[in-house]
Amino acid sequence: ASFADMGLHDVLNENLLRAGYTNPTPIQKYAVPILMNGRDLMACAQTGSGKTAAFLLPVINYVLENNIKRREHNGCAQPIGLVLGPTRELISQIYDEARKFSYGTDVTCVRIYGGAATIVQIHRLKENENPIIMATPGRLLDIVSKGKISFEKLKFLIFDEADRMLDMGFEQDMSSLTNHSTMPKVGERQTMMFSATYPDSVQSCARGFMDNYLFLVV
Ligand code: AMP
Repeated sequence: ASFADMGLHDVLNENLLRAGYTNPTPIQKYAVPILMNGRDLMACAQTGSGKTAAFLLPVINYVLENNIKRREHNGCAQPIGLVLGPTRELISQIYDEARKFSYGTDVTCVRIYGGAATIVQIHRLKENENPIIMATPGRLLDIVSKGKISFEKLKFLIFDEADRMLDMGFEQDMSSLTNHSTMPKVGERQTMMFSATYPDSVQSCARGFMDNYLFLVV
């Protein structure tokens, strides 16, 4: 399958070409159709496999297909998608990739991580009521506790590098987010988990955070 056969929005096909992506990598070839079908997914994939586009394309496609418009607001952002990752570096890479794919659209991406000013991140959240947020768990919880984000509208929850997040001690923060009062329950949201390794700790997260998920190894 090529990207053109995946039924992605025209703008995404244009942006893929502009980014020089001509053929999908194996994870993209298998994961994108599964995710566009609304299934939960546990994928074992390394950095360099193209996993980032595999989870971003279905999310951005959803925002485009549902014609969700940029709208400024002064209160609480209600993200459509949330990507959680262990480090500032990873979140920045995901953000850069998301920006390539959302070029020329109303999709807003917001990075949230420690080691940078919270106030700037909160300000950026005001630019769109329904952004896609990519975040490290600790700083995100901080901003959620200030009442600046609620998850009522969340459709997609993604855990990237789940094994590293657990190694770095984020398990409690991950649970606090999935158990947040505004977070849609398992089965009412679409959840994806990506991990380079698949130890017991990741398996137990997969069982706890997902519903009847497909398992993919590339
Ligand atoms: P990732 O595994 O998501 O970190 O991606 C690894 C690198 O491959 C990144 O620099 C991507 O921009 C690039 N990449 C991902 N998918 C493709 C593709 N289908 N064609 C060309 N480059 C890609």
